[in-house]
Amino acid sequence: MMMKICVIGTGYVGLTTGAILADLGHEVFCVDKDKLKIEKLTQGEVPIYEPGLKELILRNKKNSHLHFSTDIQSVIKDCPILFITVGTPTNEDGSQNLTAINDVMDTLVQTVTSHKTIITKSTVLPGTNEWIQQSLIEKGIDSSLFDVVSNPEFLREGNAVFDMMNPDKIVIGVKSSKPIQVIKALYEKLHAPYIITSLTGAEMIKYASNAFLATKISFINEMARICDAYGVEITDIANALGRDKRIGPSFLNAGLGYGGSCFPKDVSALEYAAKQKRIVPEVLMAVQNVNDSQINLYIEKLTRKLTNLDGKKITVWGLAFKPETDDTRESRSLILINKLLKSGAEIHAYDPIVHLIEFPITIHQDMYEALKEADALIIATEWDQFKTVDWKKVKGYMKGNIVVDGRNIIDPKIVMNHQFEYIGVARQ
Ligand code: NAD
Repeated sequence: MMMKICVIGTGYVGLTTGAILADLGHEVFCVDKDKLKIEKLTQGEVPIYEPGLKELILRNKKNSHLHFSTDIQSVIKDCPILFITVGTPTNEDGSQNLTAINDVMDTLVQTVTSHKTIITKSTVLPGTNEWIQQSLIEKGIDSSLFDVVSNPEFLREGNAVFDMMNPDKIVIGVKSSKPIQVIKALYEKLHAPYIITSLTGAEMIKYASNAFLATKISFINEMARICDAYGVEITDIANALGRDKRIGPSFLNAGLGYGGSCFPKDVSALEYAAKQKRIVPEVLMAVQNVNDSQINLYIEKLTRKLTNLDGKKITVWGLAFKPETDDTRESRSLILINKLLKSGAEIHAYDPIVHLIEFPITIHQDMYEALKEADALIIATEWDQFKTVDWKKVKGYMKGNIVVDGRNIIDPKIVMNHQFEYIGVARQ
């Protein structure tokens, strides 16, 4: 059944949600308060890099299944189904910044006169959807005019289109069974089991999921520290662990740690939420401590080799927080660069997609050109092209001979055969 849908917030999640729902046969209107973004999208320009997304958007724009607008109120009036996909960053103290959600609620209060199913896809702390429901009533919308549904999103940037088309589950949090059929009709072409729970249960599933994945990363990074001291190869450990069906192979790559717009903020928001209820989340705190100190391990090893970093020319390959995205939010690469700059290093960088960041560094268009006269190379993001490097060519460009593998994507023996010094954690 074709449905008329409004997606509020056209970022990584909103744009992908809109494009896929349109591709599933619905009529979708993506709205955003950012006029420039909507203008670009209207002209067929996609403001983010996500494999397969541009093609999907253009195809569905062409067949009039997908539209873009800044007239948020008119679109909301017209659509019975509303998705909220605005950002929910964390404040300094770990609490969640709900400014964007509040803005959306204010718009709803001014607009809603017919029934709406309001579906929150933004990641919000346990209790937030209950609060949204209550606040909308308090602000004057009759409770019969809307249902609030929590439908958290589990996509991975860089695989967003595939993940949303092939979810391993669809989580629905509801207060009553009334909106369940609407959600099932929305997603009828997707083949995934439904997990139906309370509003707060759905919110908690999203945080538990991200916190668990972050825990796997910090666990393997802690193992790498121990393995480093014992002269053990960490990739052998990860490989063996990953083959255990009870553990699974994902998120077991040791390195500079986790970044991005989700894990850091979601783990710290969950810590905040636990503490609000007087629970001390020991594991979550340790996960963050390991992650926060991981970059220093590499910097300390590099500093020992170069004596000091002041005036040294260092090339960083990779700026995005992970491969196949242009997203640099909480990127370990940027945090690393910031620390190197503070130590007086001169930074040259290359990334296949990210060509601009607000740091005083030089970004090159060619990964080898970026190496000219460099004292050291640091691989900070595991883009595929950094896995098949012409080390002879690298040697020709660099002044020094140090290669820091922050993502364990290089065989140390290969670089050492080219007379480089390899720096990693627990690599043999
Ligand atoms: P984003 O910053 O890329 O996009 C948010 C968009 O919302 C922006 O375009 C912004 O202009 C728009 N916006 C803000 N206030 C608005 C308003 N009042 N009206 C209309 N538009 C408004 O964010 P994102 O990465 O897409 O994340 C969105 C939410 O989804 C967050 O809660 C995030 O935690 C969650 N999430 C993100 C991912 C991911 O990989 N990025 C995955 C799962 C869940």
